[in-house]
Amino acid sequence: MTDEEIFERKKELFECAKCGACCSVPGYVFLNIKEAQTIARLLGISYGEFYDKNIRKAGNQHILKTPFSGGCIFWEDKMCTIYEARPSQCRTFPYWKELTGDHKEWKEIEKYCEGAKRIKF
Ligand code: SF4
Ligand code: SF4
Repeated sequence: MTDEEIFERKKELFECAKCGACCSVPGYVFLNIKEAQTIARLLGISYGEFYDKNIRKAGNQHILKTPFSGGCIFWEDKMCTIYEARPSQCRTFPYWKELTGDHKEWKEIEKYCEGAKRIKF
């Protein structure tokens, strides 16, 4: 199997273990307007209210505001409080295109991502 085939196979077998390791560390969560509207709907608030409270601009993109403690604002009591409406970035982690070719980075992810660790084939 080539590295790319191994990666694709792992992607098929992956199930998020909801360990929160990727949610409780500092990092940017990018989201688009449609995703922000979906989250606002889930929370039962207006898009404007959601935007003012939870979003800031990073260049020409939108990101969730990160608290001083570092983790995601929606990671509470060891769970994602907006799980059904989480942005695409969260749904697709750790299988991001930019990580596929970076084996060093990928090995790091396999050290802390419970779902990735559980894959055996
Ligand atoms: S939105 Fe949810 S899944 Fe995404 S980083 Fe925040 S807590 Fe984690
Ligand atoms: S680190 Fe991996 S298993 Fe844990 S919540 Fe993130 S994607 Fe899921």
